[in-house]
Amino acid sequence: MTDQIQRCPTCKAPYKEKRYCHRCGTDIGRLLEIRDQAARHIEKAIAAYNNREWKQMYYHAARSFALYRTPSSDRLLACAALVTGNYQEALAIWTKTKNKNL
Ligand SMILES: [Zn+2]
Repeated sequence: MTDQIQRCPTCKAPYKEKRYCHRCGTDIGRLLEIRDQAARHIEKAIAAYNNREWKQMYYHAARSFALYRTPSSDRLLACAALVTGNYQEALAIWTKTKNKNL
């Protein structure tokens, strides 16, 4: 993924590319693993879209959305909801995210 962790989410110490925060010991490596897992679900959702496997697309989009929310995961889940006929969910996600500075 393109976004980088700049600071420890617990104590806001600058991130020094170590698994554990040098100040508070938070396991930042685990967060990076979750972020990477979410990225893999986005890739699988895109592949499912290309194969016109809508339910698979929705599954992977929802997993990514649940693991690590980004503007991309929001949009992907809205699209997946749309193609699977979940119009209310698609509209709700789109409404929540359309005014965010993405
Ligand atoms: Zn910390």
